[in-house]
Amino acid sequence: MHDAAAPARDEATQPVPVLSVVIPIYNEQEALPLTVARLRPILDGMGVSYEVVGIDDGSTDATPVIMQKIRQDWPELRIVRFARNSGHQAALTAGIHRALGDYVVSIDADLQDPPEKIAEMYALAREKDLDIVYGVRGDRGTDTFFKRRTAGAYYWLMRKLVGKNMPNQAGDFRLLSRAAVNALKSLPEHQPVYRLLVPWLGFSSGEVVYVREERVAGSTHYPLSKMIRLALDSITNFSASPLRLATWLGLTSFVICFGLAIYTTIQYALGATVPGWASLFIGMVFLGGVQLVCVGLLGEYIGRIYSAVQARPAYFVGYDSADEDAVARGERNPEHAA
Ligand code: UDP
Ligand code: MG
Repeated sequence: MHDAAAPARDEATQPVPVLSVVIPIYNEQEALPLTVARLRPILDGMGVSYEVVGIDDGSTDATPVIMQKIRQDWPELRIVRFARNSGHQAALTAGIHRALGDYVVSIDADLQDPPEKIAEMYALAREKDLDIVYGVRGDRGTDTFFKRRTAGAYYWLMRKLVGKNMPNQAGDFRLLSRAAVNALKSLPEHQPVYRLLVPWLGFSSGEVVYVREERVAGSTHYPLSKMIRLALDSITNFSASPLRLATWLGLTSFVICFGLAIYTTIQYALGATVPGWASLFIGMVFLGGVQLVCVGLLGEYIGRIYSAVQARPAYFVGYDSADEDAVARGERNPEHAA
C-alpha cells in the first residue's frame, strides 16, 4: 500500500521522539487494556522520549472507545483509525509511515510479543549501532500444532525466496532505525510484506530472542484464509517462479513425448496398435508440450514486466562521506539525515 497521505516528519512543529511504538489493533477490546497496562511502565521507564502509534484497523467492537479513553491520560498515544478493516500489514504500513521516532518498534496488541523486549532491542541497536533488530521466536510451545507447522513451512519457503539473511521465525516484532524506515518508505510496494522486505534491505541487523506467549485475551484474527493470502503475497512479491512453472512442465512433457514417440513407433512397427492411435497420441503429447512452453515464454516476459513495475530501487546507500561533511558543517542533524 503506497501511503501517499502520510505526512513527512515535521520537525519544525512537532518534537521528534526517540522511540515510536507501532501497534496494529483490530477488535482487541479485551486485550488492549492489559497490553497498555504492561507496555506503558516499560516505555516510561526507558528514559527516552517516545510516542505510541495505535492503528485501529477498522475495529467493530469497543476498541475505538477504549483507545480514546486510554489516550485521555496517556498523551503519548496517537490514534490512527482506518475507515475499514484493511489487514495487519496495511496497519503496519500506516504506522511505519506515520511514526516520527529515530527508532520504530512494531508490536502486536495481544501481548504475544513481550513489551519488555523493546528496551532490550533499543539497547542493542544503540550499543552496536544497528539498523534492524529482529524479535526472533525462541519457542512456539504455546502455539497450536497446526500454527507451528504452517509457520515452519512458511519460513522455510521464504528463506528459499529471500535468501539466508532472513532470520528464521522472525515475525513482525522488530525495531527499525530511521534509516531503515526511510528506505522502506521509499519502496513503491502496494502490498508490502515487511517480514520479507526488511531482511531484503540488507541493513545491519541483530536479534533478540523471545518466547512467544499465549494471546492474553480474545482470539486470533489470522484464520487460514488470511494465512494463505499472506503466503501468496509473500511468494508473488519476491519471485516470478510460479510463472516459470509452465516452462518446466512444457520441457518435461517434451522429454516424455520423445520417450513415448519411440515407444509408440515400436508398438506401431510390431502392429500392436489400433490404426490411427500412434499419430493421434504423438500429436497430442507434442502439441501439449508446445502450448506449455509458449505459456511459459509469456510467463518469462510477464515476470520481467512485473519486476519493472515493482520498480524497487537497485541499492540503498549506507554511508556517504558527503553526509558526514554536511554534518560537520552543521548543515544537517546526523540523526535526521534522510
Ligand atoms: N490485526 C490487524 N488487522 C487484522 C488482523 C489483525 O490489525 O485484520 C492485528 C491484531 O490486532 C494484532 C496483530 O495484528 O495486534 C496480530 O494479529 P493476531 O494476534 O490476530 O494474529 P496471530 O498472532 O494469531 O498470528
Ligand atoms: Mg496474536
